Amino acid sequence: MSEQKYRIGLGYDIHKLVEGRKLIVGGLEIPYDKGLLGHSDADVLVHAIIDSLLGALAMDDIGTLFPDTDDRFKDANSLMLLKNVYDIVQAEGYWINNIDANIIAQAPKMMPYIPKMKEILAPLLGLSKTDISIKAKTKEQLDAVGEKLAIEAQAIVMLERIN
Ligand SMILES: [Zn+2]
Repeated sequence: MSEQKYRIGLGYDIHKLVEGRKLIVGGLEIPYDKGLLGHSDADVLVHAIIDSLLGALAMDDIGTLFPDTDDRFKDANSLMLLKNVYDIVQAEGYWINNIDANIIAQAPKMMPYIPKMKEILAPLLGLSKTDISIKAKTKEQLDAVGEKLAIEAQAIVMLERIN
């Protein structure tokens, strides 16, 4: 990989909301009557952040790195996968300057949980809480997210080369 001073990365994810699963977003279990469906814990925000980091490094995406055909990642804690990817970022000679993210959910309300998500994610990524932005959006009742059938997340990250 070339050694630019800055590298930017964009991540996106979506998971279906289904009964009989815990709802885990941003490493936090959120009380709700449904949860996100996936091979791992289906943490949509953490997956978007992972893909933004891998994207910044122009590497394979999360599905290639942690395939859903691999039993090691069944019900995996996505925070462990994120830690793993942050280790790759550092091994490539970068640190994270800042992250900006959106959680797009019609229900439940994400806003009350955002400070706690930042408390979980910032130390894991060598960031202070002021360097990670997480915004809660709805889909204005439009499409699958608006009909409470799914939750989406987006993340953008700026990496800076360690001198
Ligand atoms: Zn995912």
